[in-house]
Amino acid sequence: MGNITLNKVSKSFGTTHVIKDIDLAIDHGEFVVFVGPSGCGKSTLLRLIAGLEDVSSGRIMIDGTDATGLAPAKRRLSMVFQSYALYPHMSVRQNIAFPLKMAGNDKAVIDKKVGDAARILNLTDYLDRKPRQLSGGQRQRVAIGRAIVREPEAFLFDEPLSNLDAALRVNMRLEISELHQQLKTTMIYVTHDQVEAMTMADKIVVLQAGRIEQVGSPLDLYKHPANRFVAGFIGSPK
Ligand code: ADP
Ligand code: MG
Repeated sequence: MGNITLNKVSKSFGTTHVIKDIDLAIDHGEFVVFVGPSGCGKSTLLRLIAGLEDVSSGRIMIDGTDATGLAPAKRRLSMVFQSYALYPHMSVRQNIAFPLKMAGNDKAVIDKKVGDAARILNLTDYLDRKPRQLSGGQRQRVAIGRAIVREPEAFLFDEPLSNLDAALRVNMRLEISELHQQLKTTMIYVTHDQVEAMTMADKIVVLQAGRIEQVGSPLDLYKHPANRFVAGFIGSPK
């Protein structure tokens, strides 16, 4: 479970071709990073996988089933956004419980799953607080908690750390890597930060102008960049 395959996926907005003919295979449990300069199509590609945008052509398979036309909720993927998207008037507990409540789960089930997620994310002592009473890193953990309770086949992260200061970013990077080791769930992580890509990924997908320049492990890309763009991009952290 958690296998995702893209076959010749393209996306246009009007006459603008944003994603061009992408083939990609993501294996169960892999930590895959989409990296590339701003505007290259990373978020769009992630949103296509999530089902938040429809492909213009091509196919998306999830766990061997054609998911191309499937609604986001049916794809069993959880998206974590950079802006947290927490409900300000709800407590941490209510924020994390929200997707379970919407799905009509019993209180006992909700309490158990929220408790488990809070333990994994070190939020147990903060469950009754409101988002505004939390630090940026804690808010990001609540957003991740809300993704965890849905027990997705894959987590999709869109630049989740870009609102955090540098020190906290390093911390959260480690926390997300640890979470991956613990849950062993497929994770797709979008960033424009080469250091995040190199330190977190099992597999890096380098994008430029809607195309894949190269796919490989951090070491592959570092040692054998396919072209000057990859060499320059991976070789020169900002
Ligand atoms: P990235 O996440 O790599 O910065 P995006 O996927 O957000 O890039 O955007 C890729 C390109 O697609 C950009 O040129 C952007 O302006 C364009 N784009 C994204 N979403 C839309 C949309 N809904 N309508 C029109 N153009 C869009
Ligand atoms: Mg983006």
